[in-house]
Amino acid sequence: MPLGVAAFALSVYNFPIEKVSVTLLVLAVVTIFFSSYLKIQLPHTKIHITVSETLVFFSFLAYGGEVAVLLAAFESIYSSLSLRREGIRLKGKTVALNLTIALISTFASVLTINLIFDSPATIIGEGSNTVFVGLLTTMVLAQFAVNSLLVAVFMAIRTDQTVWQVWNDYCLNALVMYIAGAFMAGLAVKAIDQVDLFLIFVALLISSVVYLTYRRYVNDIRKTAAKAEQSERERAEQAERHIDELQHHIAEQDRIGQALRESKEKFRHAAFHDALTDLPNRNLFMETLKFAVEKSRHNPEHKFAVLFLDINRFKTINDSLGHSMGDRLILHVAKRLATSVREKDLVARFSGDEFAFILNNVKGIEDAVQFAELIKHKISAPFSLSGRQIFTSFSIGIALGGAEYEAAEDILRDADIAMYHAKDEKKDHVVFDQKMHTRAVTLLQLETDLRQAVERGELCMYYQPIIDLNTMKIFGFESLVRWNHPTRGLVPPNEFIPVSEETGLIIPMTLWILRTSCAQIVEWQRKSPANKNLVVSVNLSGKHFAQKDLVEQIRKILVETEINPACLKLELTESAVMENAESVIRMMKQIRDLGIQLSIDDFGTGYSSLSYLHRFPINTLKVDRSFVSSMEDGSENGEIVRTIVALAKTLRLNVIAEGIETIHQLHQLRILGCEYGQGYLFSRPVPVAEVERLITDTSRFEKIIPRQIIPPPSNIDVPHLRLAK
Ligand code: C2E
Ligand code: MG
Ligand code: MG
Repeated sequence: MPLGVAAFALSVYNFPIEKVSVTLLVLAVVTIFFSSYLKIQLPHTKIHITVSETLVFFSFLAYGGEVAVLLAAFESIYSSLSLRREGIRLKGKTVALNLTIALISTFASVLTINLIFDSPATIIGEGSNTVFVGLLTTMVLAQFAVNSLLVAVFMAIRTDQTVWQVWNDYCLNALVMYIAGAFMAGLAVKAIDQVDLFLIFVALLISSVVYLTYRRYVNDIRKTAAKAEQSERERAEQAERHIDELQHHIAEQDRIGQALRESKEKFRHAAFHDALTDLPNRNLFMETLKFAVEKSRHNPEHKFAVLFLDINRFKTINDSLGHSMGDRLILHVAKRLATSVREKDLVARFSGDEFAFILNNVKGIEDAVQFAELIKHKISAPFSLSGRQIFTSFSIGIALGGAEYEAAEDILRDADIAMYHAKDEKKDHVVFDQKMHTRAVTLLQLETDLRQAVERGELCMYYQPIIDLNTMKIFGFESLVRWNHPTRGLVPPNEFIPVSEETGLIIPMTLWILRTSCAQIVEWQRKSPANKNLVVSVNLSGKHFAQKDLVEQIRKILVETEINPACLKLELTESAVMENAESVIRMMKQIRDLGIQLSIDDFGTGYSSLSYLHRFPINTLKVDRSFVSSMEDGSENGEIVRTIVALAKTLRLNVIAEGIETIHQLHQLRILGCEYGQGYLFSRPVPVAEVERLITDTSRFEKIIPRQIIPPPSNIDVPHLRLAK
């Protein structure tokens, strides 16, 4: 700044007043006010080159250095101000700096010329052209050198680039314009000096051509640079978009990964948990049990217990209240069970109404029993479902796990066996013991044998006569199956019917029994006209009512054996009929439509609902032998038999008394008006050959009772029951 001020002051001080003329003023005005409009901005920079340089050079050559310095100064100030007017932000400091640079560079150029050349004016007028060119060159180089150097230093400070970089990148380009400007100024001065109009014209022409060419060149560069910048920008934007997309992709991948992890977790959870109660399921239970078994094999001190729980009569609840109610009950039970176990234990829903527990680290069976008591306490409180109070009971089987167990399945099986014992014995809980297993194995063996028995024809039929108590003649026979076991001998049905019911073997077995019995009775009927009305009673298992084609199968047998349907009676137990009343009634009606008779067996033991009884299309009630066997005068059982007989009469049904063993019982039953009887008193169930002997001996049963007792009293005193229909 001081240098600039000094240059300015010196120039003012030495200003040649005598040279002031109209021409100079015009030149000054043009230089200061208009030259800045003819400007070129150097590409990539804020540097503008104007024709003012040329005019400053011109003023230097024509009017001396002082004029040039002052003109350069004023031009710099004006062009800075006009840039500001155009909206370009220029700080005061920058304006001052521009001014200083203009002053110093012009002054340096003037000083250099004055030092090297004696009198520039003389050189223009008279000097050789070579010296003049030398002068111009010196002038422009000095001006450019100082100017560009100062600009480069200043920019280098501001942009952290080296001076050389700045100078090379931004300033060097301006050299052409400087040189062109200086030489045009020189040409103009020469032309004016020699008043050579042609030269002036040439100078103007060349300067315009140079100016326009350079301007065009610079514009081209600017356009190219702008294009490059534009495509750079686009590339950058594209890259940014790519990055965005990539990030979006990564985020999406993350999200998918997370969702995958979550769904994997869900699947894992679903694989090991029950959907209804969210308790661990059988899979998880078995895994945990295997682990417990392994642990106690390695460490015999480690004892654990497995409890198997089954809700009693859950099927009834499900059937009567609906499945959704059943589900809700299971859910409530599950909740109570879940709150009963310790952290280290496990409760799982096994299936339907079955739950299982693993109690870890128990001291002995007492701990497990104590836990079963706790469960009893928890579950015996009623469940309140949709305003209903529901009471449940359950059966628990307990097995104590220890080193003796090799597989998880074994201990579970034992707990299961114990649970079935609890059910059979109507206890809350039963602890497994080895005898139970032995029995279970026997049963399994029985099942295998039974399958073979059916195939090998080891089953045979026994027949027990049913006596008409009025005439004391054979009314018919009940056919009772026997198993002629190769090693065990004759096996009674009570030992194998339940197994065959469980395994489904009962279906083919009964069809065989039915066919055999019908064929047999037809054979006897055909032997003698006296036998033509013999009736055969065949026991039908409740399981049959689940068979859709039961009626059709029976019909086929009727056709096959040519039996008169009225001579066939099917015996159903009360429980079989009551279990699924509505659908059973439908099937019973279809059976009756075939002309077959129906009888309810073991009546009085199966809790039949009396309100149902009149809806069953039956012909006969069979009084259970438990009532008959202990029938004595005035005893409760005697009353029951009396009531059943009365009930049968009200419903217009026949009555058969089972299990008559004594003459006394027979006498009683006859007094009560019971029409038919069956029992050891008359005959045990006997094989075919025996039956034939019984049939031929027609007066055999009449001899059982003294003559005077026959016939029975005609007016039997039995109460009449009124049933609400
Ligand atoms: P159930 O149908 O009540 O048969 C009567 C049972 O009482 C027969 O036993 C018979 O031998 C027995 N019994 C008859 N009179 C007397 C008596 O005076 N005193 C005593 N103590 N018992 C007498 P069984 O043959 O052992 O049959 C038992 C049960 O097995 C039958 O009871 C029936 O429910 C079932 N059963 C027998 N055969 C068949 C069959 O072919 N099919 C089906 N589904 N069940 C059968
Ligand atoms: Mg029977
Ligand atoms: Mg019976």
